[in-house]
Amino acid sequence: MPLAREAVELLVQAARAWYFEGNQHGLRDREWMALRFLGRANRFSRTPSALAGFIGATRATASQIVKTLEGKSFLVRKPSHEDKRSVVLHVTAQGEKCLSQHDPINHVLNAVTALGPDECVRLRDSLREILNHLDAAHQRLDASICRDCMFLAERGPGTGKGRATAEFMCRLYRAPVSLDETELLCTSFERTRDRPKIEEHLDRARVANQG
Ligand code: SF4
Repeated sequence: MPLAREAVELLVQAARAWYFEGNQHGLRDREWMALRFLGRANRFSRTPSALAGFIGATRATASQIVKTLEGKSFLVRKPSHEDKRSVVLHVTAQGEKCLSQHDPINHVLNAVTALGPDECVRLRDSLREILNHLDAAHQRLDASICRDCMFLAERGPGTGKGRATAEFMCRLYRAPVSLDETELLCTSFERTRDRPKIEEHLDRARVANQG
């Protein structure tokens, strides 16, 4: 127990990198959280309502944050391809640059990267395990990576005319998902613990892409 407490206290200290008073490089911590999320979210989750859910804010607060980020030219709204009545939020090149140069979590990211790949995998798996326990208590995760979602299916051969780049299908949205998109965050994610077939396919595809 003392060891567990010490580990949690260290986690809380690490969290000070992304929860802070005032602003850093012109953005408050929630504005950074929103920009960071939108930079990593898939097309289904880059909506004002998904953003509000992810940052734990009301629609009105999320809308104010979007306006602030638009005012700094970090975000633009575009009509959704799937539903013309909806808008999708896009991080601009300027927003991407701001994230890569000034995001307050970059220091933590660099420190974790310095641990090396094996330690990174252990840390990721331990944190995921912890979140799974919290997930059971709170019923849902805010968002997670598409490749681990129970709605992701492999596309059958010969389907999807004109969408040759899509290798997967989202069974929830009934829409194609490309290999790159499987690495993005989704707020509709549902965990599945036993999907060795797709994991193997993704691992093979990743290795082929690197080669
Ligand atoms: S498969 Fe799951 S995570 Fe991926 S887009 Fe569909 S709902 Fe989201």
